[in-house]
Amino acid sequence: MDDTISHYLASLTPNSPEWAEQLELVAEENNIPIMDKTSMHFVQVLLQIHQPKRILEVGTAIGYSALRMEENAHQASIVTIEKDETRYNDAIENISKLNKNDCIKVIHGDALQEMIQLKENHEKFDTVFIDAAKGQYGRFLELADSMVKNGGLIITDNVLFRGFVATPEETPKRFRSMVKKLRDYNEKLMNHSHYQTSILPIGDGVAISYKKEEGN
Ligand code: SAM
Repeated sequence: MDDTISHYLASLTPNSPEWAEQLELVAEENNIPIMDKTSMHFVQVLLQIHQPKRILEVGTAIGYSALRMEENAHQASIVTIEKDETRYNDAIENISKLNKNDCIKVIHGDALQEMIQLKENHEKFDTVFIDAAKGQYGRFLELADSMVKNGGLIITDNVLFRGFVATPEETPKRFRSMVKKLRDYNEKLMNHSHYQTSILPIGDGVAISYKKEEGN
């Protein structure tokens, strides 16, 4: 998105609470990719409206977005999956420090395997937040679809990946395959018969997909 608009929107976004500012700093200093503040605030507003009871997050990193989702979904239990051991341990520590272990459960493992397990256990969610390996978004969506309830939401981050998804010809070689997969993903989402989807050019691009009630 246009830098001027991004900066303007960022300047309007409410300040993060102190604990979240500290996590933002840790993430920045250690090159840990966490959700952009404007997008995070948008997700919070969405959850405030939607009031999910169960949230599945794919890609925990250090627990930042899970904790920020919890701020606006107090009644929700959140299950979040992270494959990197150090980040998993950091997430557990950050969640414990804020006494949120009762509402946020972190699973250490590969999201594809863990989602298959959750599906086999007949787990259902009101919201699924996809924010892990972008090349696997298509598969995450298939599994998320089997677990998200009708009337629920799938939120996907980074669907415009640095703007390259809209201008593939300008994409550096190292990102081309991922950008192609993200373009395929966006088309799949937009044309998916179970969902009504809108893509917002905030942050790195956020897709909101509403799972239609049967017959709609
Ligand atoms: N949602 C987090 C936030 O905003 O605070 C940021 C998540 S970060 C963008 C993506 C994370 O997904 C990384 O920590 C990475 O290790 C993890 N990841 C990538 N592929 C994964 C997979 N297949 N299974 C589980 N975690 C994965």
